[in-house]
Amino acid sequence: MNADTSSGVERFDAVVIGAGVSGLYQLYRLRELGLEVRVYERGGGVGGTWYWNRYPGARFDSESYSYAYSFSDELLEEWEWSEHFAAQPETLRYLEFVADKFELRRDIRFDMTMTGAHWQEAAREWEIFFADGSRVYARFLITAIGGFATPTLPAIEGRDSYAGEAYHTAQWPHRPVDFAGKRVAVIGTGATGVQVIQEVAKTAATLSVFQRQPNWCAPLLNRPITPEEQRRIKAGYKQIFALCNETFAGFMHQSDRRNAVEVSAEEREALFEKLYGEPGFGIWMANFRDVMIDARANALLSDFIARKIRSRVNDPAIAEKLIPTNHGFGTRRVPLETNYYEVYNQPNVRLVDLRETPILRMTPSGIVTTAGAFDFDLIVFATGFDAVTGGYSRLDLRGAGGRRLVDKWAEGPRTFLGLLHEGFPNLVTLVGPHNAATFCNMPRCIEQNVEWVTRLLARLRAQGRTRIEPTPAAEDEWTAHVLDGAARMLLTKVDSWFNGVNRNVAGRDLRRFQLYANGLPTYRRRCEEVAAQDYAGTVIA
Ligand SMILES: Cc1cc2nc3c(=O)[nH]c(=O)nc-3n(C[C@H](O)[C@H](O)[C@H](O)COP(=O)(O)OP(=O)(O)OC[C@H]3O[C@@H](n4cnc5c(N)ncnc54)[C@H](O)[C@@H]3O)c2cc1C
Repeated sequence: MNADTSSGVERFDAVVIGAGVSGLYQLYRLRELGLEVRVYERGGGVGGTWYWNRYPGARFDSESYSYAYSFSDELLEEWEWSEHFAAQPETLRYLEFVADKFELRRDIRFDMTMTGAHWQEAAREWEIFFADGSRVYARFLITAIGGFATPTLPAIEGRDSYAGEAYHTAQWPHRPVDFAGKRVAVIGTGATGVQVIQEVAKTAATLSVFQRQPNWCAPLLNRPITPEEQRRIKAGYKQIFALCNETFAGFMHQSDRRNAVEVSAEEREALFEKLYGEPGFGIWMANFRDVMIDARANALLSDFIARKIRSRVNDPAIAEKLIPTNHGFGTRRVPLETNYYEVYNQPNVRLVDLRETPILRMTPSGIVTTAGAFDFDLIVFATGFDAVTGGYSRLDLRGAGGRRLVDKWAEGPRTFLGLLHEGFPNLVTLVGPHNAATFCNMPRCIEQNVEWVTRLLARLRAQGRTRIEPTPAAEDEWTAHVLDGAARMLLTKVDSWFNGVNRNVAGRDLRRFQLYANGLPTYRRRCEEVAAQDYAGTVIA
């Protein structure tokens, strides 16, 4: 298998779509294997999420050093994170550093959007199409298109008539945006909204936050890394990654073995208080083991966080608007914050509760709600993504016999390990639905995905095999494993992107679980078992 350009047609052993954390590492590994690989990326540079999301306030919720690639000791030694939770510019610099260090750019083509790919059975290859009308061929098509790379705008009448400055957070300009002296609106209060609101509130003349429903937020407690901490981090990388790999979602936070409902009220309050005072996702991931599965335990935690919100917001009526009533803590993505609740104590900030006064329409000058018309100089759409499967729904992916992936997933995703697909030979979806990477400190799962895929391709190559496809039975079994594991979790009882619900996208109003909630250790074990049994559950030819 080689890149064949003799006929003017480009043919590769593997084509990777996307140059974020996943695509960059997959390129590195496949090139190491000696394959001819080409990466195609929609953006003008590497970095994926960290290339696109340049809004003020964008930063990690993962501890920086737990997010880093672990595959190169040299890289770990050379790179220094400046903060415990690095901001977007630093993470982008990191990924650019990785691309330069391993000379990855020479095999990446930027500003190239894949529109679809059709499987050609006779030649056992994918014909891959791009928005500029070009096409290439590859034995393996590896999608590294990310679960959060398809931004969605709010479905509001007249949205495009608005004539002022307007930006989606994931399509932020590559130049500074000035809020000083402006009347600014932010629509959306998810993880991104919470980050951007805290920044805009610092300089905007007025900030109006349009909240459809509040989310449970918890303190990030970011700070610079001291030289002594830097030394300890570098000496301790092995332990950091080992810890992450043992935990449910790849973070440096191990859940408490006790049940919240079984300990005394004092013990319970003590752990809640301790975790609320610690940085990062500990309050979500290192809590009592029953808070995500037992509604009584979850109610105790939610009540604790509600008290914290009330203690931080001066106006009791506003505090109540900021406290979720339709879901418990952690059953939707938890935004981490620094002074989010205190922002609502500022005289320049107003909370518009859309449950009381819904938006009717947008006009050239602003937003009209049932309470009246509001004019703005600048509107920020912090309305997130068509998450996890959204990138796939916009691709014309056709497998054997012309079957379309969107049709296959019409009733929800069906996959094998979240990586391989019955009816779609040689298609590999890194970070695909029903893959552990969907609910993870992502690089920890991405490395696992990429290394598993690399071993598979090495094995096929060594034996001169050119086609792999999972069996329907293996896919049924995996899908059942995913859905059974999720059924016990409270997060499946709530509308959110975890369950594929997005009210701004037509057809996304039914719950269809998209994540993997059996934990990273189980996922890794299952993948290892498949590999150890010579890829049981697949047909290799
Ligand atoms: C604001 C924000 C903050 C986050 N913070 C964290 C965090 O703290 N911790 C954490 O673990 N995760 C976080 N995430 C999740 C983050 O997406 C992952 O950590 C990681 O960056 C995913 O890498 P990826 O390479 O799989 O996907 P991405 O980084 O999304 O890269 C996918 C790439 O594919 C390209 N692409 C997509 N479709 C096409 C196409 N059709 N043709 C060509 N190119 C295409 C996109 O342009 C993009 O560059 C965050 C996400 C966001 C949006």
